[in-house]
Amino acid sequence: MLKVGITGNIGSGKTTVSKIFELLGVPVFSADAAARYVMTNDQELIGGIKASFGDESYFEDGSLNRKYIAGKVFNDPAELARLNALVHPATFRAFDSWSREFPNAPYLLKEAAILFESGSYKLCDYSIIVTAPKEVRMQRVIARDDISIEEAQSRDARQMPEEEKIKLADFRIKNDDSELVIPQVLALHQQFLALAQTK
Ligand code: ATP
Repeated sequence: MLKVGITGNIGSGKTTVSKIFELLGVPVFSADAAARYVMTNDQELIGGIKASFGDESYFEDGSLNRKYIAGKVFNDPAELARLNALVHPATFRAFDSWSREFPNAPYLLKEAAILFESGSYKLCDYSIIVTAPKEVRMQRVIARDDISIEEAQSRDARQMPEEEKIKLADFRIKNDDSELVIPQVLALHQQFLALAQTK
């Protein structure tokens, strides 16, 4: 079974493209949703967060004190790296156990905003980057999240530049007006099915 990572910068359309793969029957794992889930469900991770950031990290009912954690890591790259070093392995564990639910799938898709930043692309057989010009991505995010252009640009600036990700990725899907998306997805789907047979 192949593991294929899919990523893209803010507003590129990685979630939209992943849904097309899902319609073709490909199981899709959302690393961002999994990261949120493990924060309140993975006991090893919860223990690690309490040990590193204090018991105040969680409320008495077991829910995460997001404000407290955000305050700790916001504008502090070292603290953010410490949190990520705890959360990433837990997300990998969640992906591994999730992937065992699909023993007959030729390939699985792992959708992750920080596939390259986290290094998790190295655990995938192949990676896909979904791209769109920055102005297009900004317009989409402004419309979707109802935020200002400044906020959209500041979120974009916190990500690894798209050009760097293009260099690291094995495949690219252009999600702009230059090419139709569905034929690109279908072509890649055929390619992964063929690659899965040779693995
Ligand atoms: P983020 O990282 O910000 O969550 P994303 O890469 O997952 O973004 P999506 O949420 O899939 O991106 O897409 C961003 C917005 O752009 C959504 O509102 C989506 O409906 C819209 N969108 C995506 N692709 C297209 C397209 N080809 N044409 C028009 N709108 C699109």
